[in-house]
Amino acid sequence: MKTIQTETLVCGGGCAGIAAALASARSGAQTLLIERAGFSGGIITTVGLPYFDGLIDKPSGRFVVKGIALELLQRLGVARDKANHIDDLRPDLITRYWGSVWIPNVEEFKILTDQLILDHRDRLSVLYHTVACDVEVRSQRVNAVIVANKDGLTRIEARQVIDCTGDGDIANWAGCPTISSTPLMPLTMHFRIGNVVPVEQTKPLAKQVLIDAHREGKLPQFYGPGLIFAFAKDEGYVHATRVPANATDAADFTRAEIQGRRDAWTIFNEWKSKVPGFENSYYIMSGPFIGVRDTRRIIGQHVLSLEDLQKTNRYDDAIATGCWFLDIHPPETSLDKPFTGSGFQPAPYDISYRTLIPQKISNLLVAGRCHSASTEASASSRVTATAMALGEAAGQAASLAIRAQTDVGLISGVKVREQLTTHNSGPFTEATSK
Ligand SMILES: Cc1cc2nc3c(=O)[nH]c(=O)nc-3n(C[C@H](O)[C@H](O)[C@H](O)COP(=O)(O)OP(=O)(O)OC[C@H]3O[C@@H](n4cnc5c(N)ncnc54)[C@H](O)[C@@H]3O)c2cc1C
Repeated sequence: MKTIQTETLVCGGGCAGIAAALASARSGAQTLLIERAGFSGGIITTVGLPYFDGLIDKPSGRFVVKGIALELLQRLGVARDKANHIDDLRPDLITRYWGSVWIPNVEEFKILTDQLILDHRDRLSVLYHTVACDVEVRSQRVNAVIVANKDGLTRIEARQVIDCTGDGDIANWAGCPTISSTPLMPLTMHFRIGNVVPVEQTKPLAKQVLIDAHREGKLPQFYGPGLIFAFAKDEGYVHATRVPANATDAADFTRAEIQGRRDAWTIFNEWKSKVPGFENSYYIMSGPFIGVRDTRRIIGQHVLSLEDLQKTNRYDDAIATGCWFLDIHPPETSLDKPFTGSGFQPAPYDISYRTLIPQKISNLLVAGRCHSASTEASASSRVTATAMALGEAAGQAASLAIRAQTDVGLISGVKVREQLTTHNSGPFTEATSK
């Protein structure tokens, strides 16, 4: 089998992975990013989700995440230079009620991340259409990650590995303990409908039509109405499908993809034939992947807990700040509000570096939605801007460890935090909020 060597290997080029790869390369490490899709962006480009949630503390409007997440928004023209507050964002791309901001075009995100990778080509390379599929472990280190692509199987030897697969694939194969929520949150196939002329009754009727379709057995589960006009006034962006499944089981994941696609078409056909405003509409596209919210999370050196959020526990080794509400989607039909439970809104809370460090393996970090967090806490820390902040911290940590000739699991999170602060990133404090 062919072998490639690098200093940092980032597996998965989604929200956490693109930030990890950029941070690692920018801070001096030879970095290789691998991604199973033909582009970076994760949920943003593989599912088509435009939201950067976790950036804005809803009550105050201040940003709790800056760094690469904010840079991406600036490069897309969504945030002003030196932006610090929701008022510094494009007013047509925010919802104050949710403390939410979105990007105008998810396709543009692909070309932006391609360009950022190319801009760092002296230290950063990428292999798209490349899936991590196994690991070699030696002396409590990941000795190599095995990837599959059109070259066949390749071993990648890296001094530090960052698992940003969303599913903790690398950590799982390396034997690190993981947990999953019971029940798992459902998967959702997002899709877009063009040439909609919304009238006052469009949304309430769209909801009623879904209720009827569910009663008639045409739609197993759904969230209703799940219809937003985020990209254009005449383009419906639909997040109404809801498919219970385990996306780390290949057969179940395949079943979910098929059900998600079928449900999306059922919703479109029902609306087109029954809801005013949809008469001349057409199905633009879905995915290309069904969206996966919830699979494995590592049980790391620290498990971010609900108490961490409720008491806003402070940690010297905090490397990021979370602020999103407890956004738990039930794997069953629900109406009007997509989440279940209290929807508790935490004040900005610290996320310790140790939530990225798995047990048993010293040269591996796990960033993004599969970092170490309880079911409740991860319902907040899983969102996109928070995942980017975790990825950025992991990338900085990898490069620090390489310079210090040690492993990411053995360095101090306090040092990682200091390093992030010098890059206008890291956890939110009164000083960084200026
Ligand atoms: C349907 C849905 C709706 C959501 N809505 C919102 C929302 O409104 N706002 C919000 O902020 N968050 C939302 N989320 C949550 C959020 O998008 C994710 O939790 C976030 O994407 C986490 O980032 P990540 O980097 O961990 O994962 P991802 O962004 O999913 O990135 C993981 C990447 O790893 C790649 N990958 C996976 N396995 C492998 C492998 N073995 N080898 C190589 N590559 C691999 C994937 O292709 C992907 O690019 C939603 C999630 C879903 C599923």
